[in-house]
Amino acid sequence: MSTAVLSIGSNLGDRLALLQSVLDELASRVRAVSGVYETDPWGPVPQQAFLNAVVIAEAELDPIGWLELGQAIEQAAGRVRELHWGPRTLDVDVITVGDPAPVRRDTERLTLPHRYARERAFVLVPWLDADPAAELEVDGVLRPVAELLAALGPDERAAVRATDWELRRCG
Ligand code: AMP
Repeated sequence: MSTAVLSIGSNLGDRLALLQSVLDELASRVRAVSGVYETDPWGPVPQQAFLNAVVIAEAELDPIGWLELGQAIEQAAGRVRELHWGPRTLDVDVITVGDPAPVRRDTERLTLPHRYARERAFVLVPWLDADPAAELEVDGVLRPVAELLAALGPDERAAVRATDWELRRCG
Protein backbone atom coordinates (compact mmCIF):
# COMPACT_ATOMS: atom_id res chain seq x y z
CA MET A 1 0.00 0.00 0.00
CA SER A 2 1.34 3.48 -0.81
CA THR A 3 0.08 6.93 0.09
CA ALA A 4 0.03 9.83 -2.36
CA VAL A 5 -0.45 13.53 -1.78
CA LEU A 6 -2.23 14.96 -4.82
CA SER A 7 -2.58 18.66 -5.59
CA ILE A 8 -5.64 19.38 -7.71
CA GLY A 9 -6.57 22.63 -9.46
CA SER A 10 -9.08 23.98 -11.95
CA ASN A 11 -9.74 27.38 -13.50
CA LEU A 12 -12.01 26.61 -16.41
CA GLY A 13 -15.67 25.56 -16.48
CA ASP A 14 -17.41 24.35 -13.31
CA ARG A 15 -14.28 24.45 -11.18
CA LEU A 16 -15.83 22.99 -8.02
CA ALA A 17 -17.49 20.08 -9.89
CA LEU A 18 -14.16 19.33 -11.57
CA LEU A 19 -12.37 19.14 -8.23
CA GLN A 20 -15.20 17.00 -6.85
CA SER A 21 -14.74 14.61 -9.79
CA VAL A 22 -11.31 13.72 -8.38
CA LEU A 23 -12.85 12.66 -5.06
CA ASP A 24 -15.52 10.69 -6.92
CA GLU A 25 -12.90 8.85 -9.00
CA LEU A 26 -10.68 8.12 -5.99
CA ALA A 27 -13.71 7.01 -3.97
CA SER A 28 -12.72 4.76 -1.03
CA ARG A 29 -9.00 5.43 -1.63
CA VAL A 30 -9.33 8.94 -0.10
CA ARG A 31 -7.79 9.29 3.36
CA ALA A 32 -7.98 13.09 3.81
CA VAL A 33 -9.07 16.14 1.88
CA SER A 34 -8.39 19.83 2.40
CA GLY A 35 -10.78 22.72 2.17
CA VAL A 36 -11.18 24.45 -1.18
CA TYR A 37 -8.95 27.49 -1.75
CA GLU A 38 -9.07 30.19 -4.39
CA THR A 39 -5.80 31.37 -5.88
CA ASP A 40 -5.06 34.17 -8.28
CA PRO A 41 -3.53 32.95 -11.53
CA TRP A 42 0.04 33.84 -12.35
CA GLY A 43 2.06 33.94 -15.54
CA PRO A 44 1.59 35.79 -18.83
CA VAL A 45 -1.89 34.54 -19.78
CA PRO A 46 -4.90 36.47 -18.35
CA GLN A 47 -7.32 33.92 -16.88
CA GLN A 48 -9.86 33.14 -14.17
CA ALA A 49 -8.77 32.40 -10.58
CA PHE A 50 -7.98 28.78 -9.71
CA LEU A 51 -9.70 26.58 -7.19
CA ASN A 52 -7.12 24.38 -5.47
CA ALA A 53 -7.22 21.55 -2.95
CA VAL A 54 -5.08 18.67 -1.74
CA VAL A 55 -6.24 15.07 -1.49
CA ILE A 56 -4.35 12.32 0.36
CA ALA A 57 -5.12 8.86 -0.97
CA GLU A 58 -3.97 5.30 -0.37
CA ALA A 59 -3.85 2.46 -2.90
CA GLU A 60 -1.88 -0.51 -4.13
CA LEU A 61 -0.02 1.63 -6.71
CA ASP A 62 3.59 2.38 -7.58
CA PRO A 63 4.67 6.00 -8.32
CA ILE A 64 3.99 5.73 -12.07
CA GLY A 65 0.64 4.17 -11.19
CA TRP A 66 -0.25 7.32 -9.23
CA LEU A 67 0.86 9.56 -12.12
CA GLU A 68 -1.23 7.53 -14.57
CA LEU A 69 -4.24 7.56 -12.26
CA GLY A 70 -3.97 11.37 -11.99
CA GLN A 71 -3.74 11.68 -15.77
CA ALA A 72 -6.70 9.34 -16.26
CA ILE A 73 -8.75 11.53 -13.90
CA GLU A 74 -7.69 14.63 -15.89
CA GLN A 75 -8.79 12.93 -19.11
CA ALA A 76 -12.09 11.83 -17.58
CA ALA A 77 -12.74 15.49 -16.71
CA GLY A 78 -12.21 16.37 -20.37
CA ARG A 79 -9.05 18.29 -19.64
CA VAL A 80 -8.54 21.16 -22.05
CA ARG A 81 -5.34 23.15 -22.11
CA GLU A 82 -4.28 24.91 -25.23
CA LEU A 83 -1.63 27.26 -23.88
CA HIS A 84 1.31 26.40 -21.64
CA TRP A 85 0.62 28.18 -18.32
CA GLY A 86 -2.89 28.82 -19.69
CA PRO A 87 -6.25 27.87 -18.19
CA ARG A 88 -6.94 24.19 -17.61
CA THR A 89 -10.10 22.32 -16.71
CA LEU A 90 -8.36 20.01 -14.27
CA ASP A 91 -4.76 19.56 -13.21
CA VAL A 92 -3.70 16.68 -10.96
CA ASP A 93 -0.09 16.76 -9.69
CA VAL A 94 1.55 14.06 -7.61
CA ILE A 95 3.32 15.92 -4.79
CA THR A 96 4.72 12.97 -2.83
CA VAL A 97 4.39 9.20 -2.69
CA GLY A 98 5.13 7.37 0.56
CA ASP A 99 5.92 3.70 0.25
CA PRO A 100 5.89 4.23 3.28
CA ALA A 101 9.28 6.06 3.11
CA PRO A 102 9.14 9.12 0.80
CA VAL A 103 9.90 8.04 -2.77
CA ARG A 104 12.55 9.97 -4.71
CA ARG A 105 12.32 9.97 -8.48
CA ASP A 106 13.97 12.27 -11.00
CA THR A 107 12.94 11.46 -14.53
CA GLU A 108 11.32 13.62 -17.19
CA ARG A 109 8.09 11.69 -16.78
CA LEU A 110 7.95 11.83 -13.00
CA THR A 111 9.77 13.91 -10.40
CA LEU A 112 9.14 13.12 -6.73
CA PRO A 113 8.72 15.01 -4.56
CA HIS A 114 7.10 17.36 -7.08
CA ARG A 115 9.72 19.89 -8.20
CA TYR A 116 7.81 23.06 -7.32
CA ALA A 117 5.76 21.96 -4.30
CA ARG A 118 8.10 23.58 -1.76
CA GLU A 119 7.61 27.05 -3.23
CA ARG A 120 3.92 27.01 -4.11
CA ALA A 121 1.57 28.35 -1.46
CA PHE A 122 -1.40 26.89 -3.35
CA VAL A 123 0.05 23.43 -2.68
CA LEU A 124 1.39 23.98 0.85
CA VAL A 125 -1.65 25.81 2.33
CA PRO A 126 -4.21 23.10 1.42
CA TRP A 127 -1.73 20.31 2.24
CA LEU A 128 -1.30 21.65 5.77
CA ASP A 129 -5.08 21.80 6.09
CA ALA A 130 -5.43 18.14 5.04
CA ASP A 131 -2.50 17.04 7.24
CA PRO A 132 -1.22 19.46 9.91
CA ALA A 133 1.80 17.16 10.50
CA ALA A 134 2.78 17.03 6.80
CA GLU A 135 6.47 16.90 5.92
CA LEU A 136 8.24 17.38 2.60
CA GLU A 137 11.75 16.28 1.70
CA VAL A 138 13.79 19.29 0.55
CA ASP A 139 17.40 18.73 -0.50
CA GLY A 140 17.36 15.34 1.22
CA VAL A 141 15.99 16.68 4.53
CA LEU A 142 12.42 16.16 5.78
CA ARG A 143 10.97 19.59 6.63
CA PRO A 144 7.58 20.38 8.18
CA VAL A 145 5.29 21.87 5.56
CA ALA A 146 4.30 24.51 8.15
CA GLU A 147 7.95 25.66 8.19
CA LEU A 148 8.19 25.78 4.38
CA LEU A 149 5.01 27.81 4.28
CA ALA A 150 6.27 30.23 6.91
CA ALA A 151 9.34 30.79 4.73
CA LEU A 152 7.21 32.03 1.82
CA GLY A 153 6.34 35.71 1.65
CA PRO A 154 3.15 36.88 3.40
CA ASP A 155 1.77 38.06 0.04
CA GLU A 156 2.12 34.57 -1.40
CA ARG A 157 0.31 32.99 1.55
CA ALA A 158 -2.41 35.65 1.48
CA ALA A 159 -2.99 34.99 -2.25
CA VAL A 160 -4.39 31.54 -1.33
CA ARG A 161 -7.83 32.33 0.08
CA ALA A 162 -10.03 29.87 1.99
CA THR A 163 -13.56 29.48 0.59
CA ASP A 164 -16.80 28.10 2.08
CA TRP A 165 -16.87 25.27 -0.45
CA GLU A 166 -16.17 21.70 0.61
CA LEU A 167 -15.35 18.57 -1.31
CA ARG A 168 -17.35 15.48 -0.37
CA ARG A 169 -15.66 12.16 0.34
CA CYS A 170 -17.60 9.29 -1.10
CA GLY A 171 -17.15 5.55 -0.82
P1 AMP B 1 1.38 19.69 -16.01
O1 AMP B 1 0.14 19.07 -16.51
O2 AMP B 1 1.70 21.00 -16.61
O3 AMP B 1 1.38 19.69 -14.51
O4 AMP B 1 2.61 18.75 -16.43
C1 AMP B 1 2.42 17.39 -16.61
C2 AMP B 1 3.74 16.77 -17.07
O5 AMP B 1 4.67 16.77 -15.99
C3 AMP B 1 3.53 15.34 -17.50
O6 AMP B 1 4.21 15.15 -18.72
C4 AMP B 1 4.17 14.50 -16.39
O7 AMP B 1 4.75 13.31 -16.92
C5 AMP B 1 5.22 15.46 -15.83
N1 AMP B 1 5.49 15.26 -14.39
C6 AMP B 1 6.72 15.11 -13.82
N2 AMP B 1 6.63 14.95 -12.49
C7 AMP B 1 5.30 15.01 -12.18
C8 AMP B 1 4.57 14.92 -10.95
N3 AMP B 1 5.19 14.73 -9.76
N4 AMP B 1 3.20 15.01 -11.00
C9 AMP B 1 2.57 15.22 -12.19
N5 AMP B 1 3.20 15.33 -13.38
C10 AMP B 1 4.56 15.22 -13.39
